[in-house]
Amino acid sequence: MKSEIAERIREINEELSDSTARLIAVSKTKPNEAIEEAYAMGQRAFGENKVQELVDKHEALPKDIEWHMIGHLQRNKVKYIAPFVHLIHGVDTEKLLKEINKQGKKNDRTLSCLLQVHIAEEDTKFGFDADEITTMLDAGIMDELQHIKICGLMGMATHTEDQAQIIKEFSGLKSLRDQLQQNYSHDRLELKELSMGMSGDYPLAVSQGSTLIRVGSTIFGQRDYNTK
Ligand SMILES: *Cc1c(COP(=O)(O)O)cnc(C)c1O
Repeated sequence: MKSEIAERIREINEELSDSTARLIAVSKTKPNEAIEEAYAMGQRAFGENKVQELVDKHEALPKDIEWHMIGHLQRNKVKYIAPFVHLIHGVDTEKLLKEINKQGKKNDRTLSCLLQVHIAEEDTKFGFDADEITTMLDAGIMDELQHIKICGLMGMATHTEDQAQIIKEFSGLKSLRDQLQQNYSHDRLELKELSMGMSGDYPLAVSQGSTLIRVGSTIFGQRDYNTK
């Protein structure tokens, strides 16, 4: 029987074929077998939001998987993922950047990060405001962060049915990216990536220039947190 997971991934990739976006399969709470099914049909980028789960899956699964840390990251846990993580999406404080830099140095790696920007109306979501980013960059933080490469921005839109609102938030994130790219130049600041769009809103994110969509439930089905 053909795998449902493989079929969903194939469909999404087809939708992305004319766009700049690439799919990150968000496998949080899902078993290794589900990841293996996706892997078998060529998917290599996976996203997780819990450090322990990310570490366990990295240990158990093929080593050519690109692991994306998409969730809120606590400073005291950076050390567990620093040896292998491909991209850290949710960097939302200067203190966290400094810790990631420290762990990058220890592991002799330059760690790729995205700055998470607060774009939603809800104030529960993490992230920088635009002026916090410019203040940090103006202060020359990149010179301090020898083991960090900032590759772009990440944002989560408001959970709403209002499509115009979502589009406004995604296009705002893209404008901020374009503006920062223009105003700051540094070897390790190259804002190519715009991580935006999840199951409920990725077509809108793609229409606004997303380069990385983070899609979980559309591929793997609803998550059941009660069994964890
Ligand atoms: C869980 C999660 C996703 C994927 O959500 P779906 O709605 O299942 O596609 C994307 N981004 C982040 C940051 C997440 O935590």
